[in-house]
Amino acid sequence: MPMNRVQFQPGLSMREFLSLYGTDELCEAALIARRWPRGFECPRCGACQARTSFNRQGRRYWQCAGCQYQCSVLSGTLFEASKLPLTSWFLAMQLLTQSKNNVSCLELKRHLGVSYRSAWLLKHKILEGMRLAEADRQLTGRVEIDDAYLGGERSGGKAGRGSENKIPFVAAVQTTEDGLAHLVCLSPRRFTNKAMEDFLARHTALPLTVVSDGLNCFLVATSAGAVHDREITGGGKASVLNEKFKAVNTIIGNVKTALTGTYHAVKFAKYAYRYLAEVQFRFNRRYDMRAILGSLLSALVHAPRRPERGIRVAELRR
Ligand SMILES: [Zn+2]
Repeated sequence: MPMNRVQFQPGLSMREFLSLYGTDELCEAALIARRWPRGFECPRCGACQARTSFNRQGRRYWQCAGCQYQCSVLSGTLFEASKLPLTSWFLAMQLLTQSKNNVSCLELKRHLGVSYRSAWLLKHKILEGMRLAEADRQLTGRVEIDDAYLGGERSGGKAGRGSENKIPFVAAVQTTEDGLAHLVCLSPRRFTNKAMEDFLARHTALPLTVVSDGLNCFLVATSAGAVHDREITGGGKASVLNEKFKAVNTIIGNVKTALTGTYHAVKFAKYAYRYLAEVQFRFNRRYDMRAILGSLLSALVHAPRRPERGIRVAELRR
């Protein structure tokens, strides 16, 4: 069997991770470098000069020379108000980025030695950072699009399209010319014309060739300026076996493998948009497993602060 270059590439080993981020000081320095690569910038007024900097409770603070605002590198970000040490945040980020499948809150709780509630909140803040990093993802060129459902299979019984209690999501995959998956976009939404127009406007760019099956809402691709390569398969097994949809079917399979067994069904529906973003974030960075943690750090340190209440809110259905 040929070696898979993506699967066998060296990631960030635990030994390297500890030498880079094993102490609070190292973690803080990494965040400063990501947030202010050209030096301090006041999050309130944008001034680039600090009047002074000082230590308070083991954390470095700056006082802005313009508006006198005092802040640390965590102020105004997703890290703000967290009671967990930075080393726990970094360890959670390492686990969530280096694992192939999604890591459950229970696993995280065990690895970090924290309460379930702390693990849940930490994980969802990190997932929120991943979601924001992928929020403006755009696909172009040849894009396979399909409707997919979490919690149900596509053949047999009351499954697939029209089934109840399933979470519908759009799976779109930008491929190379010979049909290999390159980038993905996974978006929970209903399959109406309006929802699909919205998806295409936000997540695709011309030139665009949409490869889809017969589902009517995909017809809006033409009015969005795309070439529509439509193959009516009737859904189900015929569609799954069609070579034309190989990339998107592989991705849908990966999503199900990554998510099955990691989450309880009820809570899953509420936060599906974040779990899908987690799969998408990792997939779109799979070529460079050593850089993925740095990419997540940048996302988190630029993500605005969200109190626990905001993190617990489900996304509005589209
Ligand atoms: Zn200021």
